[in-house]
Amino acid sequence: MDKNQCSVLWHKTLEIIKNQVSPANFRTWFANTACLEIGEGKIIIAVPHAYVKNQLATKLKDTLADAISQIFGQTLEVEIRIDQSLNYKRVEEDGANFEMVSQPIFKSPSLGLNSKYTMENFVVGLSNNLAYAAAQQVIQNPGLSYNPLFIYGGTGVGKTHLMQAIGNALVFKNKQTKIIYCSSEKFMNDFIESIQSKKTNEFRNKYRLADLLLIDDIQFISGRDSTQEEFFHTFNELQTKNSQVVLTSDRPPNDIQKLEPRLASRFQGGLMVDIQLPDFDTRVAILRAKCQEKGDILEENILTLIAENMNTNARELEGKLVQFLQMVKLNNLPLNEETVRSFLGKPSLLPKQLDYKKVILGINQYFSIKMADITGPRRKKELVLPRQIVMYLLYQECKLPYARIGELLGGRDHTTIMHGVEKVGEAISRDREVQRILLEIKQALQN
Ligand code: ADP
Ligand code: MG
Repeated sequence: MDKNQCSVLWHKTLEIIKNQVSPANFRTWFANTACLEIGEGKIIIAVPHAYVKNQLATKLKDTLADAISQIFGQTLEVEIRIDQSLNYKRVEEDGANFEMVSQPIFKSPSLGLNSKYTMENFVVGLSNNLAYAAAQQVIQNPGLSYNPLFIYGGTGVGKTHLMQAIGNALVFKNKQTKIIYCSSEKFMNDFIESIQSKKTNEFRNKYRLADLLLIDDIQFISGRDSTQEEFFHTFNELQTKNSQVVLTSDRPPNDIQKLEPRLASRFQGGLMVDIQLPDFDTRVAILRAKCQEKGDILEENILTLIAENMNTNARELEGKLVQFLQMVKLNNLPLNEETVRSFLGKPSLLPKQLDYKKVILGINQYFSIKMADITGPRRKKELVLPRQIVMYLLYQECKLPYARIGELLGGRDHTTIMHGVEKVGEAISRDREVQRILLEIKQALQN
């Protein structure tokens, strides 16, 4: 069979598969494949690397075989070869009418946006769910819900990602939306340049006509008096027109040195949300998502092990993951825990589940209370939250059953424990204080 025919039939096969697997799975496992040969009861397909081959030969074997037999009317033996050049190829190049499931490519009046940052590929967890929810609000009601939205937090935690995701989501809703994304330094340089070249009008037209202005790392505006003045007016004008402003910073407005008080107060006038370092579960989820994006597959125990040993931000996690995968491929190493340990450079003997005594002790220390207060019968108000947090962590982290937790906590009924666990579970999604406490305790317990 000639190449063209192969290609057409392979596309038909992929069309069937596409309806059977999730878009993410399709993109990861099938998008960069090709058909090399069909004949003699056999089909030879090419995939970009060994991970894909393994996946197609195991978990996706039946899906693949079914689709092939539907198209060819018979079962074919499947041979899978690896062709690294496929890494750079997309099936749509073959000219067939094939819609890729990837992010939309924007052609719009937006400036500076990078379409790789989306809401869909932003992993949500305890450390960033409020910021994520706020971003969603802004996308639903730009200019009306929170203006400005002020996102702050340490380096590498996803501020730029989330901010750009807002921009990309709004472009997606309406291609005509005028969006500007830039760092505060770019804003400043543009401004200074406009003064020098006597084009301040142009500068103003550009920034003040935006429907959405995203200024990244606003803290660098510190001490720049004329830029602050200009930004103040830009901001006011945008706000009057209900144009949305989103700002990020490495710290809250009040902690930015040499920031004009009137700007600080503007920044606080909308919604301020912080993003913290990802907790363990979020780290695992981020690693998993990044693997998927890259088309690599790592078993859960490997992801867990990396996450356990890297109590750090998303950027470093991703960096380490890339290094790890490169090293594995370059040296053809087995993908097992041993390889991870030697890569991370320290043996990890951390038990996966926390020891319950350690948890109780950690909470006592955190709240500066005594064991007897936790287990005792007293119904003092200030003991309610610590007790419920103990219940929650013993349940979630130590995986103890309700009844056992009841015993440990001075013979409480299992329904009481259940109630406590639920209470904290609910509070997590809306109570900033509870979130912070949990994160801090978890972090203390990991050390
Ligand atoms: P910041 O602006 O806070 O310094 P970035 O937004 O640049 O951090 O994030 C650093 C890297 O980590 C980026 O590649 C980003 O896509 C990734 N990242 C951060 N947070 C998340 C998240 N929650 N989900 C997926 N990727 C994330
Ligand atoms: Mg950033």
